Amino acid sequence: MNADLSSTHKHIVILGGGTAGWMSASLMMAKWKDKAVNITLVESPAIGIIGVGEGSTPQLKTFFEQIGIEESEWMPACNATYKNGITFKGWSSRPGFNSYFHPFASRIDAFSAPAFFYNSMFRRKGISVDSHPDRFYLSAYLAKHHKSPIPNENFPFPIGYGYHFDSGLLGQFLAKKSVQAGVNHIQAKVLDVGKHANGDLAFLQLDNGQQLSADFFVDCSGFNGELIQKHLAVPFHSYKDNLFNDNAVTIASSTGESINSQTISTTLKHGWAWDIPLTNRTGNGYVYSSDYTNANDAELELRQKLNLVDSDVEARHLKMKVGRVEKHWYRNCLAVGLSQGFIEPLEATALHFVQETIEGFIQAFEPASFSTKPQDTFNLNLNNRFEGIRDYIVAHYRLSSRDDTDYWRANSENPNISNTLKKIVNAWMAGEDLNQTFAANGKNSLPSYYPPFSWQCLLAGYGVFPEKLTQVGQTDPAHKYDLEYIDDFIQKCGLNFKDHKHYLENHL
Ligand SMILES: Cc1cc2nc3c(=O)[nH]c(=O)nc-3n(C[C@H](O)[C@H](O)[C@H](O)COP(=O)(O)OP(=O)(O)OC[C@H]3O[C@@H](n4cnc5c(N)ncnc54)[C@H](O)[C@@H]3O)c2cc1C
Repeated sequence: MNADLSSTHKHIVILGGGTAGWMSASLMMAKWKDKAVNITLVESPAIGIIGVGEGSTPQLKTFFEQIGIEESEWMPACNATYKNGITFKGWSSRPGFNSYFHPFASRIDAFSAPAFFYNSMFRRKGISVDSHPDRFYLSAYLAKHHKSPIPNENFPFPIGYGYHFDSGLLGQFLAKKSVQAGVNHIQAKVLDVGKHANGDLAFLQLDNGQQLSADFFVDCSGFNGELIQKHLAVPFHSYKDNLFNDNAVTIASSTGESINSQTISTTLKHGWAWDIPLTNRTGNGYVYSSDYTNANDAELELRQKLNLVDSDVEARHLKMKVGRVEKHWYRNCLAVGLSQGFIEPLEATALHFVQETIEGFIQAFEPASFSTKPQDTFNLNLNNRFEGIRDYIVAHYRLSSRDDTDYWRANSENPNISNTLKKIVNAWMAGEDLNQTFAANGKNSLPSYYPPFSWQCLLAGYGVFPEKLTQVGQTDPAHKYDLEYIDDFIQKCGLNFKDHKHYLENHL
């Protein structure tokens, strides 16, 4: 096979029509529409898509900007809502820290976040100052008051936000747009693959008898990793030792009077449950470990949480394969989505990763004259990124102080944590300023794939502080910031944002 696509008209085949497949098709089409590149997407309706994954990070906004589609078009089509961040409930049993909010970053935080960093530093020195993150972030206020993150026109500070959406509808929406843009769509099952003499992929053998040849293949075939794992035999590294959850059960429920502008993640006995608001329903799911409970008991526990024990509303059970492939780009094949790996959905990072993978690939592939030269750097970057996200998710479990079941005790005692995570927690407990720790260069530098403020929200939000507390007077340097002034500032900023439901119904 000739992986050099620069010479003549070239053909890229994407295997899989889940969100990963259609996001890949959309971005490649948008970036390469003026190049001599043809794109075909093949998917099997008989196999179907996973059809979950309803929360995003702010990255998804830039995805739609790149493909030139407005919120007013895609959001109503996908029953989408806005997301200011995530509330974590029940992860910490430390008094005063039963819940905290992980906000998305905004420019306006520059006013209030320094007070949070300052106070949490003194709190780590054992001085009694308010250092719960929720008080310091406008997004936390907006989420608490069911407000949309879109300000009135006269408020000139954009707020970082993500989305919630129906993933099935999003796939259909992107499929329609991609086909309109010129993607060739084939519905068939891949039965086998043909290879060139050097081991590169040559064609997909479809169940309609067609042999689909291509110069380059994008494997978006889901957990099975049809091309990258099955046919190219790239090893898969499981994260089972670090992250115990391997199953999920989902149940939809009705929406309430108002629509939340946040995801809520609540701990249950053997995992945690998400609550994701859409315009027409609430998506709920329980992510759990099959080493500690079974599908029936997990479903019952979720139904009890939702007051749906006697309801005949359907539950869906899913298995999750948590970990990553050794190489995401191997020979003339790029794996994107669940085929490249998956970290459980606690921070809703999967589609963010899908987008980063495709964007990184486009940026690497094209300047290298559509050759495979940048593969090694590309794979190293993605693997580091995967491990960085894993560490942040592991931190949620390792630092949790819930201890009423074997599951939670095993998590908080889990010895399998990375050196990087150990160093981050040690730096925090030693009273270091994590903004500086992450920025430092040299042998003591720490790679941070989550921004320092996210780490500080997690650690302070769980109340991970020394036990002993000293009271000091208001004139002590620990009381540098006037917190009532910050409350007032945030509340007045909040006046510029409309009720979330009202905004969705009247402005999109
Ligand atoms: C419980 C759970 C919750 C999640 N929550 C979130 C979240 O909140 N946010 C987030 O960003 N992500 C989340 N995710 C991840 C998200 O669901 C996936 O990243 C996303 O849906 C992309 O999936 P995919 O396209 O890779 O795979 P799939 O949706 O499984 O699609 C695979 C495609 O490959 C096709 N295919 C497979 N084999 C063949 C074959 N032999 N021939 C032809 N076609 C084939 C299938 O037909 C299908 O079209 C969650 C995942 C799980 C399991």
